[in-house]
Amino acid sequence: MEERAEFLKIRSQAGLLRTLKPVVYRYHGRICVEDREYIDFSSNDYLGLSQHPKLIAAAKEAIDKFGTSSSASRLMSGDLKLHHQLEEKVAEFKNQEAALVFNSGYQANLGIISALVGKDDVIFSDRLNHASIIDGMLLSGARFFRFQHNDANHLETLLKKERKKFKQAMIISESIFSMDGDRAPLKDLVALKEKYNCELFIDEAHASGIFGKNGSGLIEEEGLAKRIDFIMGTFSKALGSFGAYLAASKKTVKYLVNTCRSFIYSTALPPAVIACNLSALDLIKKEPFRRETLLRSAEYLRSALKKKGFNIRGESQIVPLIIGQNFKSIEFARRLQEKGFWVLSLRPPTVPQKEARLRFSLTYDHNKEILEKLIDALCQIRI
Ligand SMILES: *Cc1c(COP(=O)(O)O)cnc(C)c1O
Repeated sequence: MEERAEFLKIRSQAGLLRTLKPVVYRYHGRICVEDREYIDFSSNDYLGLSQHPKLIAAAKEAIDKFGTSSSASRLMSGDLKLHHQLEEKVAEFKNQEAALVFNSGYQANLGIISALVGKDDVIFSDRLNHASIIDGMLLSGARFFRFQHNDANHLETLLKKERKKFKQAMIISESIFSMDGDRAPLKDLVALKEKYNCELFIDEAHASGIFGKNGSGLIEEEGLAKRIDFIMGTFSKALGSFGAYLAASKKTVKYLVNTCRSFIYSTALPPAVIACNLSALDLIKKEPFRRETLLRSAEYLRSALKKKGFNIRGESQIVPLIIGQNFKSIEFARRLQEKGFWVLSLRPPTVPQKEARLRFSLTYDHNKEILEKLIDALCQIRI
């Protein structure tokens, strides 16, 4: 007990205490917290689909037809036809043979990685990969090596030294990174996985729905779908809903249905969520203007802030402004809040030491006028 109190005290003194903040409502790029409304730069609802009338109607219709729960896990009796329809659509969307739906991105990464590799195997993982990937690696019991962020040369050094000592090998990376908003060198990763006889797992949580001609992701944009073994993505970000998936070979999906514990031992996603996911995939196809507008806005914000001398990273709808010290970053976020902007200050351990930052998550609802207001506000703040 005392150790826990001490832990909280230390966290608090370092400006690292995490606390919950109830949101009253969130609507078209705005968020209400306590009793004030802000412009919302903190959501992953990149395309604004969570408020789309078609998604809302799809959810309502599914509830009327099927009720509120799927009432069992997939392997028991929770396996609705809707789940299969969704998996077929995902396989097509990701240009793979088959797909399997998971209850969340966290559960997907945890379960898939730990089911596919084991103690005689090895994983090579980008240093900035998401916590769910790290937890999946730990649970797998495989040896793992972390390569410097987006550094294919460092990865090759590790592969040369370590690959031969193990049976199976998996390389894991995100395609668009959640904290830096930058792109993985996918072509280099594919070349290395082929050269060193590895399998490649790519997490497209932040790229799905946004990149590529059909909005499938960065893998589509780079024409690599047929050369990547495991493509993971979520419905919880650009697709405005909830849940996740793996797109892969039929053999892989069959194997996971038999071995993946986070898939087997959890109630299937409810029909309303599956119906939303189906509707979201449809909208990605029918409303490409959403992703086009979003990427144009992001480009505009990044270049405007760079011109003003800010330390900006990324090449996507995620625009990180690196501040450095934890307290400075918190103060920056607080001052922006005073001016009516809700933006998250990210601190270690979510990001590396001395790299505390503001992370602007752009959405379709942030028009040029809003972005100009934000740029003005940032320029006025002196800390
Ligand atoms: C958000 C995220 C996840 C987890 O997805 P959830 O559906 O929110 O559980 C996994 N991987 C990455 C890279 C993410 O950003």
